[in-house]
Amino acid sequence: MLDTTARNIKYLPGVGEQRASLLGSELKIRSLYDLLYYFPYKYIDRSRIYKVNELGGTLQHVQLLGEIRSFEEMGEGASRRLVAHFTDGTAFVDLVWFKGIKYIRNRLKLSTQYVVFGKPSMFNGRVNIPHPDVDDASTLQLSSMGLQPYYNTTERMKRHGLNSNAMAKLVQNLLGLLREEIEETLSADIIQKNGLMSLDNALRIIHFPKNNAELRLAQERLKFEELFYVQLNILQYAQERQMRYIGHRFAKVGEIFNRFYSENLPFELTGAQKRVVKEIRADVNSNRQMNRLVQGDVGSGKTLVALLSMLLAKDNGYQACILAPTEILAEQHFATLRRMLGSLPVRVELLTGSTKQKERTPLFEALANGGVDILVGTHAILEDNVVFYNLGLVVIDEQHRFGVVQRAKMWTKNNIPPHVLVMTATPIPRTLAMTLYGDLDVSVIDELPPGRKPINTSHIFRNRADSMYSFIKQQLQEGRQVYVVYPLISESEKLDLQNLEDGYRQLCNIFCDYRLSKLHGKMKPKEKDDEMRRFASGETQILVSTTVIEVGVDVPNASVMVIENAERFGLSQLHQLRGRVGRGASQSYCILVTDYKLSEETRKRMEIMTASNDGFEIAEADLKLRGPGDIEGTQQSGIAFDLKIANLARDERLLQYVREVAREIVKSDPEQSNPLYRVIWRRLRMIKEMNNRNWGAIS
Ligand code: ADP
Ligand code: MG
Repeated sequence: MLDTTARNIKYLPGVGEQRASLLGSELKIRSLYDLLYYFPYKYIDRSRIYKVNELGGTLQHVQLLGEIRSFEEMGEGASRRLVAHFTDGTAFVDLVWFKGIKYIRNRLKLSTQYVVFGKPSMFNGRVNIPHPDVDDASTLQLSSMGLQPYYNTTERMKRHGLNSNAMAKLVQNLLGLLREEIEETLSADIIQKNGLMSLDNALRIIHFPKNNAELRLAQERLKFEELFYVQLNILQYAQERQMRYIGHRFAKVGEIFNRFYSENLPFELTGAQKRVVKEIRADVNSNRQMNRLVQGDVGSGKTLVALLSMLLAKDNGYQACILAPTEILAEQHFATLRRMLGSLPVRVELLTGSTKQKERTPLFEALANGGVDILVGTHAILEDNVVFYNLGLVVIDEQHRFGVVQRAKMWTKNNIPPHVLVMTATPIPRTLAMTLYGDLDVSVIDELPPGRKPINTSHIFRNRADSMYSFIKQQLQEGRQVYVVYPLISESEKLDLQNLEDGYRQLCNIFCDYRLSKLHGKMKPKEKDDEMRRFASGETQILVSTTVIEVGVDVPNASVMVIENAERFGLSQLHQLRGRVGRGASQSYCILVTDYKLSEETRKRMEIMTASNDGFEIAEADLKLRGPGDIEGTQQSGIAFDLKIANLARDERLLQYVREVAREIVKSDPEQSNPLYRVIWRRLRMIKEMNNRNWGAIS
């Protein structure tokens, strides 16, 4: 039988060296297998030809037959475009290209019969077809086409003739090679119980379906399989970890924990915090390694839960560390922990990328001989030269999410792996949690500290800012403080900084009776600290800053969060920023300021923000709006986001179902010896190998 994973794509008829290198670099298609699993992203009924005079703005994709009468190049800059005036004798329609103009212009001839394929849209009251496929009319085979598969290709591939049609040809060649049945990857009982199509059928049909009915069955089969193996991988991994590793036992609640709890804690824990601390205590006292996720909305008090857990480690003679996604957050945690611990005999240190070499040497020494109790830091902690005396607990506070792979990296630091506590600052949708953190036990802090009022959020356009300024004046007169945040995105850093400076000057003029602070990443740490302290102490009333994540301290007296250029922030980031106010007892406000011209998607984002204060709801909406691939940090998560057919936003029910199917199998066949499941375990091993090649090994 042909092993498609082993056979290089360049040996497929129609490929060769040059195309192979394009397929590899553009789409990561390197083997026959990769191509087999490169599915069309849509299908179009190409069994009919439309007439130009039938076109309206609402049509789906259409196919036209006719010729180009003339070309025209128009516009400047981003709106520069090539227009081809196309007709089939019934009417004219414009074909429009914004990219690859030169290439298109050279390739297409006048007065030649072409099949044009694309999606009509309306522009200035006229129908046009942006970036259509244009092929020689001789290639047209009408009804025999059935549903035409449509493959994503890049501009670069298209320039080398590798468009969707060419991809379809290659797949056809490949399926022709596979004369024997493609080997089944699910066990007979699963296939039967769930009425699934065979893999061989599904793979052939997914590329060239005859009709929608069989396409749906093929999609179902492949989605089932894809999600099933994601879950099986995670659950099997979690089980193996449990069987393989004992955990450090934190048997007692000791003196420091108790002293902190009774003397240093400035407030009562919320019920949810108490519950979660109890769950953690049970884990670390169980002889098993803890792997727990704490989910809690912004401001729900996760830091305190982390600190209490780290004190448990300390009291039992272990070190702990807490990992933050950015230096500024690490600094913030460091300051918070030191402040809260006061004079208790707990040594807390900080390690980030900017820790100086001459500070590192003594720090590393103190880590290695147990002098440091708690290390706060960034990724720098993961470097090989950071060695602990006896690391008992790792807390990962993530804005950027660590998948299984990165978390596993922490274990190589000890013979016995430390307990792992993952805290998500933004609640994440359930489907995402099940894939990213599917191997973890979950605790939820579903209660905010008492006295918090929901934040009142509004969206205004830049040209209406005057009303906002008078509102801010009122708040200032009542003694409140105000944040004004500007985006800072690295590519346009200079421009962004300029925006902030301009904004700051303007605000200084408007609020000349008040004092303002300014804060951005380019300032020296000392300056930042000073400025921050001035705002925190109330000496300044308005803080103009790039992201307020950079604001290391809580300021409960701040009641207004203005977010300038809000269109440039993602939903979770907006929600995070908003969480900086509403921490005191007074009513707080968040004002999102945008341009008047907004994309549909941005408008939605603003609507969601003004309608909801609930982090979970917002995270779900974010997932639906953007798809899991785009959500911050998921790309590096190392698992499951390379989904080829399933969709975490749409296939939640299937995901939940296959998770149970996978759980049953892991439970009933822990030794992987049941002949019934041989095919499944073999497939899982193969998937792991592929993942390892792509992401680096898990364990
Ligand atoms: P997050 O979950 O977003 O990390 P933090 O841990 O930063 O939240 O806590 C937010 C604020 O709430 C902090 O100022 C913290 O001191 C305060 N806080 C935490 N727990 C409580 C509590 N039980 N009662 C009152 N305030 C609390
Ligand atoms: Mg936090």
